Amino acid sequence: MSLIKGETGEWEVVIGLEVHAQVSSNAKLFSGAATAFGAEPNAQVSFVDAAMPGMLPVINDYCVEQAVRTGLGLNAQINLRSVFDRKNYFYADLPAGYQISQYQQPIVGTGTIVLDMPDGSTREVGVTRLHLEMDAGKSLHDQDPRLTYVDLNRAGVALMEIVSEPDMRTSEEAGLYLKKLRSIVRYLGTCDGNMDEGSMRADVNVSVRKPGGELGTRCEIKNVNSMRFVQQAIEYEARRQIEVIEGGGAINQETRLFDSKQGTTRSMRSKEHAHDYRYFPDPDLLPLELDPAWVDNIRASLPELPDPKKARFMKEYGLSSYDAGVLVAEKDTGAYYEAVAKGRDAKLASNWVTGELFGRLNKAGTALADSPVSAAAVGELVDLIADNTISGRIAKDVFDAMFETGKGARAIVEEKGLKQITDTGAIETAIDQVIAANADKAEQVKAGKDALLGWFVGQVMKATGGKANPAKVNELLRAKLKG
Ligand code: ADP
Ligand code: MG
Repeated sequence: MSLIKGETGEWEVVIGLEVHAQVSSNAKLFSGAATAFGAEPNAQVSFVDAAMPGMLPVINDYCVEQAVRTGLGLNAQINLRSVFDRKNYFYADLPAGYQISQYQQPIVGTGTIVLDMPDGSTREVGVTRLHLEMDAGKSLHDQDPRLTYVDLNRAGVALMEIVSEPDMRTSEEAGLYLKKLRSIVRYLGTCDGNMDEGSMRADVNVSVRKPGGELGTRCEIKNVNSMRFVQQAIEYEARRQIEVIEGGGAINQETRLFDSKQGTTRSMRSKEHAHDYRYFPDPDLLPLELDPAWVDNIRASLPELPDPKKARFMKEYGLSSYDAGVLVAEKDTGAYYEAVAKGRDAKLASNWVTGELFGRLNKAGTALADSPVSAAAVGELVDLIADNTISGRIAKDVFDAMFETGKGARAIVEEKGLKQITDTGAIETAIDQVIAANADKAEQVKAGKDALLGWFVGQVMKATGGKANPAKVNELLRAKLKG
């Protein structure tokens, strides 16, 4: 637990996140207009989205299903009856003058997100609710020196707002929460989780208190759109609040903006309260009633999610909590690993996938889907190590060549003549030559200077181009010099 040191002693940071996750749907929440990212401004706007008089919203079943899927994926309560409300406010990018959202009766109630801590332990963060709402449009202030333009492509796009309990205590935990949430929605296919395209963004609530004291007054930092920015915003904001309080001031509950260039937050407006929005049930929409059998069907169709998959990887493959966590973070990495590990040394397979392969993919900036090395090819390499055809050391060179050329492990070993020498005769010949060339050192070993044995192993390995089986070299050297 990391506390922040101030002048008056230690402070605890309290964090709650409100995440807006865009539903992966081709059509909007209340109209049939398209939702594709990057379209020409105002090319995807129906009369409903533009709030033309007399237009009526029609709920998109598919989006409702995705919200339920997500709720189930968060082990949350599904509310069979929920209500859409109008949240009234005036803004240029909100043509109707209200946003359709859910307030007192959201579609999903309390759930849980499990954080995988770097030391292998886990922590639970409560989810308060998930509700469905429509996105607003976008005001463009940078297109003209004097005018503001409005793009309504995003207006009406379905969002799931996922609200956490104030259960996080460090910026790291907030990062892990977002990571796990993103992992879950990606597994479910309910949101693509692309923060750089704005399909996942977070309002970050931060307060500070003396450990064990009452919750402090919070500030809400709006619309932070990367994991790194969320963490920076929390760290800056916590220190700012501590300084204000220690300087004799008080925190005003307010909405703030994160400035990613400066790494700071600044006041945007004083906090608006629910009553400011004049929420009331939208008379154009009936309450949403779900059939329990329909919910059960969705539950039955859920894929194996990251947490149960992680537990299975630890049990079935004997992996550490950390390695299992890395492997299950994305659906395709888990599947790739299992294809390598099936019928092989699972720990060795994990080392090659998380260490060598991920390391190289990262360095090359390549996604796993575009990996030049297939799971079958890594499997072949692991087989060659396991049956002593090559040593672990040589395997790294083979892997480099596989990554560069896309060729199979066996083909490269053949082509480059990298087969390990396990033939005792050949190794003995090399040992004899090394001993003959270093008779003085050999005498020293015989006289008890065991430290030099390692040096001899190194020389023999060198003489064989690294291809001798190191265990065999060791054994034969000992027999010759000590035996
Ligand atoms: P609103 O809808 O007005 O933003 P909520 O009560 O729904 O208010 O809370 C929004 C978020 O603020 C939640 O994620 C919650 O966990 C978080 N939160 C509430 N109180 C605090 C606090 N004292 N410090 C930090 N976060 C808080
Ligand atoms: Mg809020």
